Amino acid sequence: MNTIAERLEIARTNLTKYASNAQRKADEIQLLAVSKTKPIADIEQAYAAGQRLFGENYVQEGIEKIQALSQLTDLDWHFIGPLQSNKTKPVAEHFNWVQSLDREKIAKRLNEQRPSNKPKLNVLIQVNVAAENSKSGVLPEQVAALANYISQLPNLCLRGLMAIPVNTQDENEQNQHFAAMKSLFEQLKNQYSTIDTLSMGMSQDSKTAIANGSTMVRIGTAIFGVRESKPTQQN
Ligand SMILES: *Cc1c(COP(=O)(O)O)cnc(C)c1O
Repeated sequence: MNTIAERLEIARTNLTKYASNAQRKADEIQLLAVSKTKPIADIEQAYAAGQRLFGENYVQEGIEKIQALSQLTDLDWHFIGPLQSNKTKPVAEHFNWVQSLDREKIAKRLNEQRPSNKPKLNVLIQVNVAAENSKSGVLPEQVAALANYISQLPNLCLRGLMAIPVNTQDENEQNQHFAAMKSLFEQLKNQYSTIDTLSMGMSQDSKTAIANGSTMVRIGTAIFGVRESKPTQQN
């Protein structure tokens, strides 16, 4: 069992199982295939197996793949990596979503640089839910202000929140952070009609994330296999 199509099938089966454990419908939860560092041929295999949502972390690598696959018009490209302000333009021009939005300056630039012939750029606010020093994202108490700012930008559509969970095997700790995300998400949903996406859960923790209301899990390794060590400063 190790072609990409087979691994995707397993990922979908797991998702359905975790949803049903949590008494949720599987179709409430989307599967984002994280293809960073993987070749275009891998994305084509996943596409042939029915996958449409792909996540990329590095601007240049992502743009190259989007352009190479531009004949596949029903792909949905999500930028999920750290974004520096001097790299916003190609992201605004080519991606459908940015999940890692964490400051006004980036939001402002993406809004200005989004081409007028394209639909609004969907964005998620990345939340540093455990207030870890090393991690990007806004603190939970800063979500409301950034959401308010984004909601006034005509070329962005605020869809929800994203979190990269703490790297821990402790399921209680994971649970606690995911539950905090869910509560932030519910508050935001009450305020803005466009909010429908809570992106949390990766290969290791999608079960706990789905139990806590995740609507999108981001799976890389379990679909495409282990990555070579991360390219340094490719962003
Ligand atoms: C790499 C990455 C993933 C996928 O992680 P896996 O452990 O390979 O499933 C998900 N989300 C973000 C933000 C990532 O950078």
